[in-house]
Amino acid sequence: MKTKNLTTLLQIATPSVETIIQPDWAAKHGITLTVKRDDLLHPVISGNKWRKLKYALLAAIEANTKHIISFGGGFSNHLHALGFCCQQLNIQFTAIIRGDYSQNPSPMLQDLLNWNANIQYVDRKTYQQRAEPDYLKMLQQQYPSALLIPEGGSQLEALQGVAEIVEELSHSYDYVLAPVASGGTLAGLITGISKYLEPIDCKILGIAVLKGEGYLEQLVTDLLVKHDHSKSWQINHDYHFGGYAKSNDNLAEFCRDFFQQTGIKIEPVYSGKLFFALRELINKGYFPQKSRILALHTGGLQGAR
Ligand SMILES: *Cc1c(COP(=O)(O)O)cnc(C)c1O
Repeated sequence: MKTKNLTTLLQIATPSVETIIQPDWAAKHGITLTVKRDDLLHPVISGNKWRKLKYALLAAIEANTKHIISFGGGFSNHLHALGFCCQQLNIQFTAIIRGDYSQNPSPMLQDLLNWNANIQYVDRKTYQQRAEPDYLKMLQQQYPSALLIPEGGSQLEALQGVAEIVEELSHSYDYVLAPVASGGTLAGLITGISKYLEPIDCKILGIAVLKGEGYLEQLVTDLLVKHDHSKSWQINHDYHFGGYAKSNDNLAEFCRDFFQQTGIKIEPVYSGKLFFALRELINKGYFPQKSRILALHTGGLQGAR
């Protein structure tokens, strides 16, 4: 199948919109703030998850794959996106879930069930093995014809799909910001900027949404094909609010205020932390006057239901 046929079949709205926003906290510092609206790519498939899955799905269709297995938490945007794509493409989907939600399935899990996914709840200890070669080998023996996709869809095949975000840009930016959890999105942006822009002029700043200083940098580095991009990117670890999916009143209030000022919905797990960090860094004078900043809205609103 051709790329274009798949995006047409799934009704993915690429290229995504690039729009300037003017919240009061950006204007007064002479910053031009643009949002790349990957949250608008599709009503169901969460923005960056489509970017990461695109080429994996194309390869799966090419190989006539009938069954895909992947991993995630009970609110996972990745499993939600992949489960929907599999249902649309007539591929059986098995979701391996961290923790037992069988008595109280989240809206995400209810959607997966409606899409006829097979759900397997595993305990934390089993889930910890999700990337261990022995565990994956065991799963592959159990399901010899299945394609295994890692947590978050962050794998080598994800990079080109994410890099296309950069290919779509109308011009270059001084800074590109995105939230970081499993690292695939940041690695793809780094790849895209070295491929389609001048990396020296465009700095990439990841905002960690979980506690993972050193660990997140390692995830990103491991994904990069070439390991020589190191100067063009870094990850800020000051705005994870205590860990993955941790939040507080301040962040919740910021998300509401951001929506009021811009008309763009954000949620506290990913995009809320990204824009909160952006506001704080602007206020601290982190970015020089007149900086042109691009923030990637990665989607994820289903997780906030
Ligand atoms: C998964 C996700 C991220 C994190 O992307 P990684 O590639 O895992 O770092 C950011 N935003 C949203 C909305 C997501 O669903």
